Amino acid sequence: MATVETVNGPIDVEELGRTLIHEHFRTTDEATRFQFPHLYDEDAEWEAAMRDANGVKGHGIQTVVEPSAMFLQRDAAFSKRVADESGLNVVLATGIYTYDHLPQVLLNRNEDQLAEIFVHDIEQGIQGTDIKAAFIKCAADEPGVTPNVEKVHRAAARASQQTGRPIMAHSHPKSETGLRQMEVFAEEGVDPAKIQVAHTGDTDDLDYIERLLDAGCWIGMDRYGLDIFLPTEQRQATVLALLEKGHADRMFLSQDFCSTIDYFTPEAAEQLRPVVANWSMTFLFEQVIPELKERGMTDEQLDQMMVENPKAWLA
Ligand SMILES: [Zn+2]
Repeated sequence: MATVETVNGPIDVEELGRTLIHEHFRTTDEATRFQFPHLYDEDAEWEAAMRDANGVKGHGIQTVVEPSAMFLQRDAAFSKRVADESGLNVVLATGIYTYDHLPQVLLNRNEDQLAEIFVHDIEQGIQGTDIKAAFIKCAADEPGVTPNVEKVHRAAARASQQTGRPIMAHSHPKSETGLRQMEVFAEEGVDPAKIQVAHTGDTDDLDYIERLLDAGCWIGMDRYGLDIFLPTEQRQATVLALLEKGHADRMFLSQDFCSTIDYFTPEAAEQLRPVVANWSMTFLFEQVIPELKERGMTDEQLDQMMVENPKAWLA
């Protein structure tokens, strides 16, 4: 029996059910939070997380994969509380979410030593709990695959090789980082079928996406509602084109929504509203999926992307 680790222990992969592959119940900067807690409102954060957990449950979602890592305030206890109160399965990662910066403690460790840290979270548990990471997260963004980013990718690859766990790699399609990320994983000998290149849906460049698919990975069409990166209409046209080409068995639909995010002051967040007006944890169900169905997506293709693909990638 294939199992997947959740915040409440391993479950049979068949119990995952309808799955959102990429959402966050809270995203804040852990250093700022520790030093300046007066900037944060725990009650409001909890309310936002529960609004979204209950919201997606109401749309038939049984599992939320929460790819928070170091620098995204991954918090196993908080995620377990969300799961316990809502009845959702929540699946967590280990890894480091950095576009380049690493603290001295990690600069002075090599790839194998970083891999050992990730393996600890997979085999022993996260943050002193017995909650185990189900996969490994890494990231490359506008600065590209810098030496520090490459080190984290190689560490993720080695932890995956040791444990068999899949990898989710945040990418920046506008500079085609996904291709370089896949090269690094290939050099480390990781089976491409274990790798999900997140945020591929931030581009409508089908040529780039197909070159990425040729490398054998999964792709995240996972930022619906973030018009700031690509408007919904272009995301829809891209997904429909890929469905037409027979790629339902390689894609995930999600929103990368953050119930709480501390990037902006309330004033700046208000100014940004027009380019993220639709962004929520339920936008997929309210608008995206109904529209995709109207435009030709079959129920079978939807099940493939939201039930079968998460099972196959996680197990
Ligand atoms: Zn994310």
